[in-house]
Amino acid sequence: MIPVEEARARLLAGLAAKGVEWVGLDDARGRVLAEDLIARRDQPPCAVSAMDGYAVRGADLAEPGRTLRLIGRSVAGHGFDGAVAPGTAVRIFTGAPLPAGADAIALQEDATADGDAVTFAEAVAPGTFVRRQGLDFTTGSLALAAGAILGPLQLGLAATTGHAWLPVRRRPRVAILSTGDELVRPGETPGVAQIVSSNATTLAAMVQAWGGEPVDLGIAPDDRAALARAFAGLDDVDILLTSGGASVGEHDLVQEVATGCGMSLDFWKIAMRPGKPLMVGRLGRTTMIGLPGNPVSSAVCAILFLRAALRAMLGLDPTLPVRRLPLAAPLGPNDRRQDYLRAQLEDTAGGIAVRPVQRQDSSMFATLAKADALLVRPPHDPALAEGTPVEVLLLAEALSDLQRFPV
Ligand code: AMP
Ligand code: MG
Repeated sequence: MIPVEEARARLLAGLAAKGVEWVGLDDARGRVLAEDLIARRDQPPCAVSAMDGYAVRGADLAEPGRTLRLIGRSVAGHGFDGAVAPGTAVRIFTGAPLPAGADAIALQEDATADGDAVTFAEAVAPGTFVRRQGLDFTTGSLALAAGAILGPLQLGLAATTGHAWLPVRRRPRVAILSTGDELVRPGETPGVAQIVSSNATTLAAMVQAWGGEPVDLGIAPDDRAALARAFAGLDDVDILLTSGGASVGEHDLVQEVATGCGMSLDFWKIAMRPGKPLMVGRLGRTTMIGLPGNPVSSAVCAILFLRAALRAMLGLDPTLPVRRLPLAAPLGPNDRRQDYLRAQLEDTAGGIAVRPVQRQDSSMFATLAKADALLVRPPHDPALAEGTPVEVLLLAEALSDLQRFPV
């Protein structure tokens, strides 16, 4: 058995960031920017008015009650061609170019027009309500740094800085194979002693949430020839995920058959619970992650290892934030495996606390689907009293969707 951190480091050591592809703005949501994005224009492109009113020379309105002669209009998209000479003013609207000669905006609320004579009730200092050229951003400045996750606001910034096409990381392709004679697909009726396969559904949704592209390899029975067929033709796959058949039972054939197909084993058996039989190896240019079949083990291993692998391939920080919260109930001592306990968050008088669910059997998926967090217990952790701060992985954070909720 190797420690979780060593396993994760060895998995990541074999992975490189994916290459770059160009996508249009409309297809870029949830993608990861691969190169710095530099502004191609100034915003605003020239000095503009921040208000509806009159473009004036501040020197003309040094005190209240002055009257100026109206000589034209400047509206958004159509500036005034002439210049504001001393004693004159131009009607102007929000976002319209500031005419030559003008240096301030007088509010329309403070102006009274009579023919082409406009009288201003207030004094106006130079610079008032003028947005200078490049106030928002200037040509050549950094709009978005490489590694930015493209959410709605980042896409808008890319558009306004002059980019219709964006360089993004290619999506890692992840093939998912479920193994087991007992499995039927969702929607099929299981026979006696059969169950509905759920791991592939969970894993495909995780792959999508984490920025990858799932490839469905279906279900292989516990049969050498069927497994060998599934392991062929993975040329354009970055990661092969298998679930099930990873232990040491005589029906656990995944490692044996993969090895026969040329897989070189990197490591197997992690000092963790759930998820001990996790296996990692290389099959050609594909990284193979053999997940245990138990649905909780499979999902927890994916959160700890698959998420990190996908993020590394997208050029993102692979670490999952660890929170510290007080225990809502005492805990007994831990053994030599790192424990990931399904847990619920609770509002207590002292703030939010974390309570592990009663039964932690790795076949019990319903408790994971209802849990808020995984409480992490290091190997040989002593018994802990209620209120002791513990490390927690929040499932909402772990499963957050690059496409919907960039973090
Ligand atoms: P295995 O690792 O093949 O020994 O499987 C361990 C347990 O996980 C068995 O009880 C299986 O029925 C269950 N299991 C295996 N694959 C899946 C799957 N795709 N969906 C749900 N449960 C599974
Ligand atoms: Mg099995």
